[in-house]
Amino acid sequence: MKVVSSSDWRDALPFETPLLVADVAPGEPTRCATCGTSADPIPRERLWAVKHRHPNNHTGYLRFYCADHVPAAKVPEPPAPTRRTIAQRERSAATPTRRAEPVVEKPRAVCPDCFIEVSATGRCGMCGALIA
Ligand SMILES: [Zn+2]
Ligand SMILES: [Zn+2]
Repeated sequence: MKVVSSSDWRDALPFETPLLVADVAPGEPTRCATCGTSADPIPRERLWAVKHRHPNNHTGYLRFYCADHVPAAKVPEPPAPTRRTIAQRERSAATPTRRAEPVVEKPRAVCPDCFIEVSATGRCGMCGALIA
């Protein structure tokens, strides 16, 4: 089995999900990784390709299995990255709001004649009336 590290079709495959080898990598009959090199080659219509996660290589590695040795799909499809990103964004946006000190602002009096808020001194900026 040739190892081609920079092949695009492997990158597109989902992890830990058996796929028919004839669909993803058509070609000559080949062997099951578990049966080993002593076994007879199996037509790719009866072989399963599984891309496994690799601890040091994020592209993972691909193995072919016969129907007897194909592992069941281990992980469900991860949630769509966009949805997770939005959730994270919402969480990070909500956090500072929750932590922020509540702004204590005394409601200021409004001048009954001018209908504007009086200044901190309690005096109306328009007419100069002192509002308690
Ligand atoms: Zn096998
Ligand atoms: Zn006024």
